[in-house]
Parts: sequence; C-alpha cells; structure tokens
Amino acid sequence: MSTFETLLYDVTGHVATITMNRPEVANAQNTALIDELDAAFDLADADDEVRVVVLAGAGKHFSAGHDLKALIGDTEPDEWRRMRDTPEGKWQHEKVMYFDRCLRIRDFRKPTIAVVQGKCIAAGVMLACMCDLIVASDDASFQNPVLRMTGAAVEILVEPWEMPARKAKEFLLTAQTLEAVDAERLGMVNRVVPREQLDEVVAELAQSIALVPPATAQVVKRSINKTLDLQGQRDAYDYHFQAHHWMHNTSTALDALAARQQKGSMKEVFAEHRDAEASSEGTDS
Ligand code: ZN
Repeated sequence: MSTFETLLYDVTGHVATITMNRPEVANAQNTALIDELDAAFDLADADDEVRVVVLAGAGKHFSAGHDLKALIGDTEPDEWRRMRDTPEGKWQHEKVMYFDRCLRIRDFRKPTIAVVQGKCIAAGVMLACMCDLIVASDDASFQNPVLRMTGAAVEILVEPWEMPARKAKEFLLTAQTLEAVDAERLGMVNRVVPREQLDEVVAELAQSIALVPPATAQVVKRSINKTLDLQGQRDAYDYHFQAHHWMHNTSTALDALAARQQKGSMKEVFAEHRDAEASSEGTDS
C-alpha cells in the first residue's frame, strides 16, 4: 500500500481511485499535491490490473484550484515559488507543474473519470477537464473567476473545448457559477447524480469501462484525443499558455500582485474577491 501525504490511493478490482485529500483547504493544489498526483498516476500506469482511474476530492469540494496561499501567502516559499521572481522562472514553474502535469493526465493511456462534488474552481476545472469523463453530484458547481484578479484564465484554456465558444466567453468574462445540470447540458459533464449516489454511480461506470479489453479502450481514447488535436486543441492550448504568461507579466497583473503582497494578508484579498462576487451576483459564496 502506497502512502501519500496529500492524497489517498486505492485499487479495487480494475479501478484505481486517486482521492485528493486536503479537505481543510478544499483540495487546493500545492506543490506536494501536484507531485503526488503525478506519482499516483505512475502507480496506476504501472499496475496491469488497473484499467480505469477515478480522480476524486475528499470532503465537501472537489478542488478550489491552485493553492494561492502557498504561492503568494506568508508560508515559507518552496523551490518552485522562489523561481517565480522572474518571468522565465514563472513560465518554467507553470509549464512543468501546471501545464505538463495536467496534459499528462489528459494523455494518460488508461481511461479516467473525474468525480466532482461541491465547488470546482479555476485550476480545479482545468484538472477535472483533463479526465475523459466527468461525473458531478447535483450540488457541484464550476467557476473560473480569475479574470477579475487579472489572470488570463488558468494555464490550459479548456472552456472553448468544453462548451460552445459563446458560453465559454460568458463563463470566463462574467465569472459565472455554472451549476452541474447546466454543465451537463453544455456537454462539459457526462452525468449529474444525487450526492449520496455519486460513489455508486462512478463505481458502476468505471466497472463498465473495465469490461472493454484495456488495449481497445486505450486505442479508442487515443484516437478521440487525436481527433481533438487535429481540430487544433493542442495548438490552442499551447497558444493560450503563452498568452496566459504574457498577461502574468503585464503591469496590470504585476501591479495587482504587488498590491496583494503589500497587504500581506490573503484573507483580505479573498474577502475583496468575495465582495466583488456578492455585488455582481447578489450572493455570498
Ligand atoms: Zn499562471
């Protein structure tokens, strides 16, 4: 049995389940979590018994996105964060840890299912969308509100591939909260099920995929991904990653970052963000 600090890894029959396990921070993705996700996918890849991988999040929410506290908060910077002082270091950090690690899941040879409950925000959306199927509970919602904080979305722009372009623009430009049923209607989510049935439905779905001989499932997955590549998905992802980084280094973004760091308290930054939300949507999430 493998031991991880930030996730749980379980194999039952032909199904490996990787569960992000930082519920106290809504499974915010820090360096340790991203590294361990990669290692868990290595295990699932190497295990011939495993035919399907389920990616889930423990607790109330799937994932709040990248761990911003670890990135610009008061905690001791890790080697990746220290790199972010220069544009090229920032590029390297996000290319290796965000872009490549995510695409590795997208390209993972065995079929994958993301299980989304509660909030799925920003890089949480990016991560879920790397999986082949997404099953959501009826209390799940999706949001990518980083434009309001100057970010040109996150590192991989999945939205135009997950919903019609006009809806993708609305989703991003208005920081819209997309409920699970709406995400299903737009095609981003395969199924929406009551929260209490989520695990059962995912287990059934995974088992039905496991009935396909692994070589067949992997060939078909690769062909569908190749179809998306031929439609330009990979090039569009590459383009956006560069554009995203150009934005990171504009005065618009740098001034906002400096203001945030000066405040020194991420609480204030998040409170400010919540206030902006509340005034635009009339809700306080
Ligand atoms: Zn970024």
